[in-house]
Amino acid sequence: MSDNHAPPRIHSGMFAWSRRRRRARLVKRGLPADWMPWLEALPFVSQLTQKDQHRLHALICVFLAEKDFEGCDGLEMRDKIRVIIAAQACLLILNLDHLFYQKVNTILVYPSVFRHRSQQVTSGGVIENREHTNLGEAWPNGPIVLAWDHAYQGGRNPNDGQNTVFHEFAHKLDMLDGITDGIPPLTLAHEEDAWRKRMNTAMVRHREMVERGSPVFLDDYGATHPAEFFAVATEMFFERPLDLRKREAEVYDLLKTFYRQDPAARSAKAE
Ligand SMILES: [Zn+2]
Repeated sequence: MSDNHAPPRIHSGMFAWSRRRRRARLVKRGLPADWMPWLEALPFVSQLTQKDQHRLHALICVFLAEKDFEGCDGLEMRDKIRVIIAAQACLLILNLDHLFYQKVNTILVYPSVFRHRSQQVTSGGVIENREHTNLGEAWPNGPIVLAWDHAYQGGRNPNDGQNTVFHEFAHKLDMLDGITDGIPPLTLAHEEDAWRKRMNTAMVRHREMVERGSPVFLDDYGATHPAEFFAVATEMFFERPLDLRKREAEVYDLLKTFYRQDPAARSAKAE
């Protein structure tokens, strides 16, 4: 396994010890009671067992204390915004660890779709300024950027299979090993090889169907890059897991292994 594909390292010594103590204090303090209605309004929260809900609350406590949220374009940052975004982000690491978000420092939140300016070098060597609108972005060594109205609706509506918070935080998990390739950090090298092959097969099939114009279950956008395939599959894994398991069993299985969660079993129980 190359260094680039190493799983997140566990820091040891005094630093880790004091961080553990600080986190334990945060978790013990818990979440304010008046935040609970915001969490209870998220359908995925009600599907979690009591034990998993407590774990999610503990993750949220630490996440909110350690990550910076900034409102952009006049958006005033409020607890409700922080809590609803944190809850969705922490669902992904419910059975992982905060280490998986060690490269998430700042979350920039716009009221709605935002403009993004970039420079691109054309084939003729000319630098072009481009501008487009976006709902979310994840920068490899930078912030996550979200549109609040979509982050809010995405958390409350699991039926559309679209969730920008899941999507952008999945990118951050993918980026953790330094390469944005649709392969999140896996524990063992042989797991990574198997993952790459199986995910690639599913993505190639998806891309061929998109190119033929055949109806596809996962979002078309997943056909553009393996990293996007992982991100859109993650959205579906947490939003419509029963359908994903039925339509893309291989993909469901790979995500279940990585996230160490079985949301289809949770949904089946809730039905
Ligand atoms: Zn993406």
